[in-house]
Amino acid sequence: MDIHALQQIVHKTRDARRQQTIPKFSPADRDQLIHKYHPDFRASAYRPIKFGPNEGDKTVVELATLLEGDSSIQDNADLTPQYSCDVLVIGGGGAGCAAALHAHGAGAKTILATKLRLGDSNSVMAQGGMQISVAPEDSPVTHFLDTLKGGHMENDHALLKVMVEDGPSIAKWLLELGVLFDRQADGNLHVKKGGGSSKPRLLTCSDYTGLEIMRVLKDEVINQKIQLLEFAAAIELLSDNQGVCTGAIFKDLDNQRHVVVAAKSVILATGGIGRLHIQGFPTSNHYGATGDGLCLAYRMGAKLAHVDTFQYHPSGAVYPEQLIGALVTEGIRSEGGHLVNAKGERFVNELDTRDVVSSSIIRECEEGRGIRTMSGRVGVWLDTPLLDAEHGPGTVEKHFPAMMMQFERFGIDISKDPVLIYPTLHYQNGGVKDRYELGNQCEESLCGWRGLRRTAWAEPSHGEFLIGPHGVRETLRLDRCRSCSVDETGRAVPQACATVPRGSQEARERQWRHLADDPAGVYEESVRSL
Ligand SMILES: Cc1cc2nc3c(=O)[nH]c(=O)nc-3n(C[C@H](O)[C@H](O)[C@H](O)COP(=O)(O)OP(=O)(O)OC[C@H]3O[C@@H](n4cnc5c(N)ncnc54)[C@H](O)[C@@H]3O)c2cc1C
Repeated sequence: MDIHALQQIVHKTRDARRQQTIPKFSPADRDQLIHKYHPDFRASAYRPIKFGPNEGDKTVVELATLLEGDSSIQDNADLTPQYSCDVLVIGGGGAGCAAALHAHGAGAKTILATKLRLGDSNSVMAQGGMQISVAPEDSPVTHFLDTLKGGHMENDHALLKVMVEDGPSIAKWLLELGVLFDRQADGNLHVKKGGGSSKPRLLTCSDYTGLEIMRVLKDEVINQKIQLLEFAAAIELLSDNQGVCTGAIFKDLDNQRHVVVAAKSVILATGGIGRLHIQGFPTSNHYGATGDGLCLAYRMGAKLAHVDTFQYHPSGAVYPEQLIGALVTEGIRSEGGHLVNAKGERFVNELDTRDVVSSSIIRECEEGRGIRTMSGRVGVWLDTPLLDAEHGPGTVEKHFPAMMMQFERFGIDISKDPVLIYPTLHYQNGGVKDRYELGNQCEESLCGWRGLRRTAWAEPSHGEFLIGPHGVRETLRLDRCRSCSVDETGRAVPQACATVPRGSQEARERQWRHLADDPAGVYEESVRSL
């Protein structure tokens, strides 16, 4: 059937749906739903990694194959450096730019090398906003608890604490650099409510938050005259005979030659993995998101965290074909957009966590309540015209100009017609794990500098599941945390990154039980244990 004919059910049922309230799932129902429908639980998509630091750990076949791949560097390769610096930042997205700015600001001779052009990244595409507790009714404690719940209590408490507590200072830094966040009529910052959050916490720049943040960060990198190597793909890290990372080998994508950069410190900021199209899923990610940093680190002997869990964002476009996998911002659901199946019914609280909403959409489609396009793809409706009906004509155009434009190119007016969506591979929950030396102890930590000797990277603090827009926020926190000081030899020195072993299963279960009764107590307990 023609797509316009299929859309009619959404228009017909709109008024009735507006009267409905859909409760969130109970913890038990959530677990059941996720275990049955979330792609992370499809056993056939996984296999153990054959060798290396994560030997025996199960991950998706695509990533396992990549990690087990051979180096393309021959034994007799010429490793004479063409460039040398104090700090080499690999990756030109938000993390890379922020890291380079902080390293440069601390007096280090810095090179930023990136696979494509500066700013070609996932960061530039962030739409929904950045979660930071700046609203008067919000607090880092509430942010901590929301994220803990969304992360199924698997979060690293120390990292999470840093993330929620230094959020406001990150916002201040960006404001000072010139990021134009949305404001209310009285001039205060405007914050919106995001999925899985109990309070409004999203700082936005309309629906092009990442583009605006990257406009400013890129400008600053250029203004500060930080040395750039563009179209330079890192293909191997270098180390000395102590195992200390001493630089990287790049492939110049213009002439296919190798470029060797020697560095006292190396910061990996190479982003995610979406373009591996795990389990055949479409992706919202840019073309450079091929998990390179994970491989580079793995070959240096670093262990990876959460290799078995990925985020499938609930709303990737299904129609038109040219937009397959492209993100349809969560902001539309935050402003009240309904998810609607082929029978015209809502089937999930649209503001539940992403894993729950994605699993529900997959359930609808697998159980025959999805909408099939002429090319055979299946999805559910996101009722975008509802926003104009609820908040007044022009709302969609005013609040989601980038989204409007994205669909207008294909003759679709999303303020008049609903959008067909299905989960899209969006985010890699894990990252590189390392060991961090603190006094006489060497604790397992995610602020890793030790194992790869001054090579830093990220593992997000939200555990196995990300509740909502935290990626940009993570990105900026990690770089402030890791590159803001440089010692007398030019090595980047980690700042106060607390380290703590992850809580036991028993402790997490106890916290989960107490969370509903005594949320402030849970936070206190988490913080006391650091
Ligand atoms: C469509 C979309 C929308 C999003 N919306 C939001 C949102 O609203 N809020 C939010 O918080 N998060 C959002 N996210 C997530 C967020 O954008 C990311 O988590 C975050 O920006 C990642 O930053 P990064 O710098 O680590 O990675 P990226 O921004 O992806 O940057 C990685 C950089 O490394 C480069 N690179 C990769 N491999 C190599 C190599 N071998 N050598 C050299 N360079 C390399 C890439 O070219 C790129 O420049 C969104 C993501 C997408 C894809």
